[in-house]
Amino acid sequence: MKHTQLYIGGQWRDASDGGTFEVLNPADEQVLATVASGTVEDAKAALEAADGAFAEWRARTPRDRAEILRKAFELFTANLDEFAKLITLENGKASADAMAEAKYSAEFFRWYAEEAVRAEGQIGMAPASGARIVVHHKPAGIAVLVTPWNFPAAMGTRKIAPALAAGCPVVIKPASETPLTMLALMPILEEAGVPPGVVNVLPSRSSGAVVGAMLEDMRVRVVSFTGSTEVGRKLLHAAADNVIKPAMELGGNAPFIVFEDADLDAAADGLMLAKMRNIGEACTAANRIYVHEKVEEAFVSKYTDRMAALKMGNGLDDGIDVGPLVNAETRDKVAHFVDDAVAKGAKVRLGGQRPNVKGFFYPPTVLTAVPDDAECLKDEIFGPVAAIQTFNDEAEIIRRSNDTIYGLVAYLYTGDLKRGLRVSEALEFGMVGLNRGLVSDPAAPFGGVKQSGLGREGGKEGMLEFMEAQYISTNW
Ligand code: NAD
Repeated sequence: MKHTQLYIGGQWRDASDGGTFEVLNPADEQVLATVASGTVEDAKAALEAADGAFAEWRARTPRDRAEILRKAFELFTANLDEFAKLITLENGKASADAMAEAKYSAEFFRWYAEEAVRAEGQIGMAPASGARIVVHHKPAGIAVLVTPWNFPAAMGTRKIAPALAAGCPVVIKPASETPLTMLALMPILEEAGVPPGVVNVLPSRSSGAVVGAMLEDMRVRVVSFTGSTEVGRKLLHAAADNVIKPAMELGGNAPFIVFEDADLDAAADGLMLAKMRNIGEACTAANRIYVHEKVEEAFVSKYTDRMAALKMGNGLDDGIDVGPLVNAETRDKVAHFVDDAVAKGAKVRLGGQRPNVKGFFYPPTVLTAVPDDAECLKDEIFGPVAAIQTFNDEAEIIRRSNDTIYGLVAYLYTGDLKRGLRVSEALEFGMVGLNRGLVSDPAAPFGGVKQSGLGREGGKEGMLEFMEAQYISTNW
């Protein structure tokens, strides 16, 4: 399954200057593959290929595109084991997490196969003139897709499937840490019937130059990015010159609130998901954990027991729950957050020590009494560290939860549904997990408010990100 070249116009090719970069296995720090590093010239070739494919792809009937997407779902599903293995090899996450990602990734093809045929519009009457208002949606044009390393498959399929359903060709630049999974998807799309040029993959170690050059091209009409808020801001600036439609899935700083009337076992299980799915390397990861002071000890003890039962090691080995983090920088950042919190007075209930082994490992860690000035409460931890604080008042915890530049997802556990809905509504987040530790679902609009992003992926909304409404004014 290991493709290492650029994929442009349905052809595998080396970079125009012959450049390459290395992809490491985070479990042993060994080189896993040497991958072609796309250049600005290659980016132009990819846009040419996409442009050449656009007219024919947009003219296909929705049913035709839907059946190709359905076939992609079936082929992906038939290859789940291989995708999961590749995800673990380049990202490090344990096999169970990798399999969950592979299944989630495939589902975007199924969902958008079902959505592709619902190209709905509307007909209305202008109140004053009586003219007819006819509204329909057209494919926006070429879409540039830029994805992060934490979900090497899902962050790609969550963009490719709706773009194809909408009738748009794409050029995707996967993260340099994890380009192999996206490359491995191409033979599947080919077999499913996606014509050459409709999907192009451009790994590159010069992300800024390559993506920047594409955003200078007037033919590009959508830039869909998932990654850090810092890079997202740069792409928004770059998109401004040609007024390219942006879809931004950026960072998060999710609060996880446990009220005194919550089912504590369910809350502890929910926090295992919200914190430890993907070893905490998720924009949706619970980052600030607030437990009502009346139930603090009971909850922390249940949660710490669950964290202590996890086994760390090479993600490919049997029985492993916690693989390595993706690279040394991420591991060092996590270790820094823990050291900073402890130096400021946090108590270590579990873990907290970086192991002296090969691979970018950090153990499951539980911190309590985390002080308000700890850096990990302001920034994404992106690792297996639970930072716990207490609260005693509903209004206070809503205010503290909202006190962040981010607004992606919040979680809360309570036995009182009325309170649950009241607090959900008061939380300034694009998504809320109410008595649930997982919100991601291809059928639901995923996305954030404030500096967590613009636009939505998944659901009905995800396809509209790749379409433009056209209104025709007429009489008959
Ligand atoms: P990143 O922003 O460093 O990189 C994301 C992508 O952008 C990569 O492909 C990278 O090569 C590329 N890139 C980097 N600099 C660029 C530039 N100047 N111009 C163009 N492209 C550039 O993010 P990351 O470290 O790969 O991923 C982690 C971040 O992603 C976290 O902040 C996380 O919260 C966020 N994330 C968000 C979501 C979401 O849906 N909201 C989902 C997953 C991850």
